[in-house]
Amino acid sequence: MSGLFGVVSRRDCVQTLFYGTDYHSHLGTQKAGMVVLNSRLQRSIHDISTSQFKSKFIEELPKMKGTMGLGVISDSNPQPIIIASSFGNFALVTNGLLENKNELVAEIKSQGGSFSELSAGVINSTEVVGKLIAQKKDIVAGITSVLAKVRGSVSLLVLGNEGVYAARDHWGRTPLIIGQKSRTWVVASETCAFPNLGFTPVKELLPGEIVLLTKNGLQEKRSGRLQEKICAFLWIYTGYPASSYDGVAVEAVRERCGINLAKRDKIKADLVTGVPDSGIAHALGYAQASGIPYRRPLVKYTSGYGRSYTPPSQQIRDQVAKMKLIPIKDVIAGKSIVICDDSIVRGTQLKNQALEKLWHDGAKAIHVRIACPPLLFPCRYCLSTRTRKELAARRAIKKAYGSAGKKIPVAKLLDETTPEYQKMIKTICQELGATSLRYQSIKEMVKAIGLPRNRLCLFCWNGQEA
Ligand code: SF4
Repeated sequence: MSGLFGVVSRRDCVQTLFYGTDYHSHLGTQKAGMVVLNSRLQRSIHDISTSQFKSKFIEELPKMKGTMGLGVISDSNPQPIIIASSFGNFALVTNGLLENKNELVAEIKSQGGSFSELSAGVINSTEVVGKLIAQKKDIVAGITSVLAKVRGSVSLLVLGNEGVYAARDHWGRTPLIIGQKSRTWVVASETCAFPNLGFTPVKELLPGEIVLLTKNGLQEKRSGRLQEKICAFLWIYTGYPASSYDGVAVEAVRERCGINLAKRDKIKADLVTGVPDSGIAHALGYAQASGIPYRRPLVKYTSGYGRSYTPPSQQIRDQVAKMKLIPIKDVIAGKSIVICDDSIVRGTQLKNQALEKLWHDGAKAIHVRIACPPLLFPCRYCLSTRTRKELAARRAIKKAYGSAGKKIPVAKLLDETTPEYQKMIKTICQELGATSLRYQSIKEMVKAIGLPRNRLCLFCWNGQEA
């Protein structure tokens, strides 16, 4: 996953670029970069795995000058990439997952191409995209070719002499939104970058659409498609609460998820809480609909390490994660607690960082409520961090059914009325050590998002591509 930000202005854009990029820090933990165009492309890339974007880039700001630029926060490859092509130099940032990367690399190599941006021995996906663009006669032809060739998903921004090109992936899995303030234009993955910088959203790119932002305004370079499969998980977890996509606000969706969960529940509890931070809005919705007070048995200690801090080893990561949430015994002891979270990926964090602390401090009962159905498939389009066998639901199926579990149809695992679904949930609940566990259904999640089902990517849950 990456967060992209681009700006075109008649004045120096570096401050806007810096803050606009920083507002995407929740989308990546590994690398960050900025590039501006003055008489040349001026680029800076830093590792943000041990400190935040702001602290790495702030000292460089006085040295950067330019009226157009790109910024990126990335979970994987160093970006932006600069390519020298037959139609001039350009800089590029990307968001997505190239499922057929090996094929694309082989194609480029077979034509005599080579790669320079190896990171830990792995070819940089953004460089692959840049090389494909450079094969064509101009940037628009290059981007059009990339959108057609990539399996998986890629949205991208390209900085050339004439402005910033923005292109959304073929199915629109990841969003790109254009904002305007007077004669300055920005494009962002997240609209939470707009209000404090004074920008108003003016256009969301359609799937496959290419737009050029110039100092004189917007030019459509390729029209988009009406068929869309935008990532539903943006609203559930990955998006920032203050963002909107397709005009639908993340915070409002999360509250509706909590309301739905509460409406189907009959349990009596003393308090509702959310796993900080991503479970909080779901829990607020639950509290609102159930009438059970929202309280904070666990608070997050963020001083010194924010969400974008990723320590270098698994052991230290586990330790830091454990240190982040502090239990408040006075709120916990003797209480029956409903705890909401966005999703269960592996389940270990929820168990170790939340439930064990609540039990330790004397919780009487812990009812876990999850805002989306059990995750059954790793993402193919933008999140590279999960594997199928790591998923708590898959582990539970294996534990309950052994190798025969592989033959259970997905439809049964998504249908709350089937014995297979019930057994899977019971096994996950036991693994977590919870009193009870309920997930929201696909139908209710889609209803909470409020877009037609056929416009959403639901692959994480049903494994269906389109
Ligand atoms: S597979 Fe899941 S995370 Fe990936 S784009 Fe689809 S809904 Fe989003």
